[in-house]
Amino acid sequence: RIGTAALAVQVVGSNWPKPHYTLLVTGLCRFQILQLLKEKPYPVAEVQQLDRLEQFTNGHKSEEELGELSEQFYKYAVQLVEMLDMSVPAVAKLRRLLDNLPREALPDILTSIIRTSNQEKLQILDAVRLEERFKMTIPLLVRQIEGLKLLQKTRKSKQDDDKRVVAIRPNRRITHGSITEDEEEEEDHDDVVMLEKKIRTSSMSEQALKVCLKEIKRLKKMPQSMPEYALTRNYLELMVELPWNKSTKDRLEIRAARIVLDNDHYAMEKLKKRVLEYLAVRQLKNNLKGPILCFVGPPGVGKTSVGRSIAKTLGREFHRIALGGVCDQSDIRGHRRTYVGSMPGRIINGLKTVGVNNPVFLLDEVDKLAKSLQGDPAAALLEVLDPEQNHSFTDHYLNVAFDLSQVLFIATANTTATIPPALLDRMEVIQVPGYTQEEKIEIAHRHLIPKQLELHGLTPQQIQIPQVTTLGIITRYTREAGVRALDRKLGAICRAVAVKVAEGQHKEAKPDRAEVGEGEDCKEHITEDAKPESISDTADLSLPPEMPILIDFHALKDILGPPMYDMEVSERLSQPGVAIGLAWTPLGGEIMFVEASRMDGEGQLTLTGQLGDVMKESAHLAISWLRSNAKRYQLTNASGSFDLLDNTDIHLHFPAGAVTKDGPSAGVTIVTCLASLFSGRLVCSDVAMTGEITLRGLVLPVGGIKDKVLAAHRAGLKRIIIPQRNEKDLEEIAAHVRQELSFVLAGCLDEVLNAAFDGGFAVRARLEHFNSKL
Ligand code: ADP
Repeated sequence: RIGTAALAVQVVGSNWPKPHYTLLVTGLCRFQILQLLKEKPYPVAEVQQLDRLEQFTNGHKSEEELGELSEQFYKYAVQLVEMLDMSVPAVAKLRRLLDNLPREALPDILTSIIRTSNQEKLQILDAVRLEERFKMTIPLLVRQIEGLKLLQKTRKSKQDDDKRVVAIRPNRRITHGSITEDEEEEEDHDDVVMLEKKIRTSSMSEQALKVCLKEIKRLKKMPQSMPEYALTRNYLELMVELPWNKSTKDRLEIRAARIVLDNDHYAMEKLKKRVLEYLAVRQLKNNLKGPILCFVGPPGVGKTSVGRSIAKTLGREFHRIALGGVCDQSDIRGHRRTYVGSMPGRIINGLKTVGVNNPVFLLDEVDKLAKSLQGDPAAALLEVLDPEQNHSFTDHYLNVAFDLSQVLFIATANTTATIPPALLDRMEVIQVPGYTQEEKIEIAHRHLIPKQLELHGLTPQQIQIPQVTTLGIITRYTREAGVRALDRKLGAICRAVAVKVAEGQHKEAKPDRAEVGEGEDCKEHITEDAKPESISDTADLSLPPEMPILIDFHALKDILGPPMYDMEVSERLSQPGVAIGLAWTPLGGEIMFVEASRMDGEGQLTLTGQLGDVMKESAHLAISWLRSNAKRYQLTNASGSFDLLDNTDIHLHFPAGAVTKDGPSAGVTIVTCLASLFSGRLVCSDVAMTGEITLRGLVLPVGGIKDKVLAAHRAGLKRIIIPQRNEKDLEEIAAHVRQELSFVLAGCLDEVLNAAFDGGFAVRARLEHFNSKL
């Protein structure tokens, strides 16, 4: 119940790599706890001060006795200090302190300086009576003196070390309670010796070894309380841990690789083919300094997991480095070791984690690197990814070269548009497009569902998800190019079923499997819907579950809520002035509605829906073309004039107003939409289109055709108008998708309009008739 009041004078330390703090306190007095007032969040107590300085002078003990004791104590203290090297400033100061300080303060000070265990130090602090304190400290002094004498005899040559012991104990004033124990200190010293041994036996490069030996020399001379001590030590430990020469043995067999890739992933034939080629070349020529592969595609199409499979086929370690949002080049290349908190970059950290120098590194999301005042991380990556340079990659923290040439780098990105050109130049881009519905169903049943079942501890005997249900999830609950949302939804279903299984309850809804028809028809076959948990609890708990639980549309609705996406296409096209375009986004293809309306006004064009400049230009182009061709097509404004903007304002809107849209490919859609508005005719509800336009009415090719076509297919559209010069892109699309769609290859806007309206659009017969009138 006795404590020491102290004043914190200095706090030094850092939180990295592990919290390490040194606290310097000045002891004020001893106190006794009278009553504990509260304990949380920190203890508060009523205390009474115990050792008042006046007490000692007026002392209860006779002056002589204390005087004798303190004299004796003083003698020993002086003897001890004089055995040390007086040339060390700290020792000289201590000597002066012995004379200058009041004697009563000496036991406390000396106890904190000499070699004592924490236990002994606490005993001194607990001793309230001065006499007791003197009596207890004297044996400690004597012990230290004896120890020193012995040391001097046996280790004459090593006197320096003793000096160091004193030197590293800074001149603490009245310091009650020290943090480090002596035993610990000795251990640390041993650690340093061990570290040195490890450095010498490690297989690091010559240059690195030189640096390390220099650092360890510095470390030995450094007091532990210095923040730099921890820094240097961490540095050396990292250097020892790095896999300078340690690698796994590649086991590359192309046939096995093909099997692994096929087993892990369904579809993605083009990607697998390219990866196999890459691996085959590696097998033939061991030290391939080939290009770095970069998988580009929407999220959730399996880019990361292919990377993982490659590591598996090669028998290499796999490490993923997420680069999204990294805006500091020291994230890649490390911080210089000049300030507290510096650390190596992610590449070196990754190598330390995997412990071998030939892992597969997946640089995830290279397109999302950002720039900031702290430099350009993309530029730092250039060095990492260049096979000609990366054998001597120098991390700022290590400050010595590390050979990265054995590392196999694979990058992934959602789009190449934001990858800096220099970086893109070093990589071989492989496009990974989104999946069709059929592919998604296969992926779900071959990979995702078994994986989710395992994750949730379920077996196929407990849950059954028919293909129609999967199709339902894909069309009504997700709208994506990849399969990530699908995976999540399946996870949600498994969780719900897990609860049922765990409770021993399940739905009775078990329609005959054979009866389950295709698509929407399935609804009619569901016999029992609103009767969940109809089986009595007790009976069911004891029974082995009457499984499997069938997931039908009703169960889907129960678990996932009402469908999120509806096939609204035909509904929205029920009035003139709406057309469906196809857009490409980094997340895959999308269908995009374009709406137009007209009103009395002064010929103004209003555009809404967060459009970029290119899109605005397309809108102006479209209007100009329509105005110049109004007579040909018999397009009039509300008052019957061929000057479409005469007394008329036009408003064009691109829904999903919160999403920024830009790009030239909406040109044909805007023309069609306006043509519908001015002609009063409806655009076919199953047509989608994409293409850039020119002022003369030509249709120019655009990018992302495959993703766009897949999006249209997903949305249930049947006819797709694409630029003629994009015909070659259709080859990439799976045959069954192509069969279900009809493609119109348009070279000019006439053809687009003809295809977009039922019965065609051009009215040439009447055109002549009017021409003659004009
Ligand atoms: P990405 O890196 O492209 O965003 P991921 O590699 O993280 O996507 O894939 C998401 C999930 O989808 C993973 O669990 C993966 O196994 C699964 N997946 C994606 N494509 C396929 C496929 N073709 N076959 C099997 N599973 C796939």
